[in-house]
Amino acid sequence: MWLVRDWTWAMAHRLTGGYQGPCSNLHGHTYKCQMSIAGTKYNPHGMLMDFKDIKEHFQGWIDLYLDHAVIVDLQDSALLAFLTQEHSKYYVLGACNTTAENIAKHLFKIFDCELAAHFPGLKLGPLAVYETEHNRAVCFDSDVGTAPPGFGV
Ligand SMILES: [Zn+2]
Repeated sequence: MWLVRDWTWAMAHRLTGGYQGPCSNLHGHTYKCQMSIAGTKYNPHGMLMDFKDIKEHFQGWIDLYLDHAVIVDLQDSALLAFLTQEHSKYYVLGACNTTAENIAKHLFKIFDCELAAHFPGLKLGPLAVYETEHNRAVCFDSDVGTAPPGFGV
């Protein structure tokens, strides 16, 4: 059985490291995260996991750290200095470009640890980060097996 939940948040970024293109300018997206959880054991209420717990643990993390924030490459010192000076909300992704691929990998790691810590027996399935309605990066652990419909993997 799969549980799938998706939600959106607003976030700004820019691509650095010599990237040439419009995305090298600071700009924003309404990002969407679509996450899936796989399991075989149900609680007495007939649930793999309560959707309200998914909202609290995973959407809550994004709301706290990423919503209405600027996501920054650690190597983008000019942007970091500006955001610090302006007391803006920002999140350092790491020493890597803030692509949908890197954001999806990062969220997958965090959500996988969170799920293992609080909900043993459940596995994180594919996790997609949509940068636009048409473009998404999907991260998954091949141990989970076949993806639920809609992920396109
Ligand atoms: Zn962008």
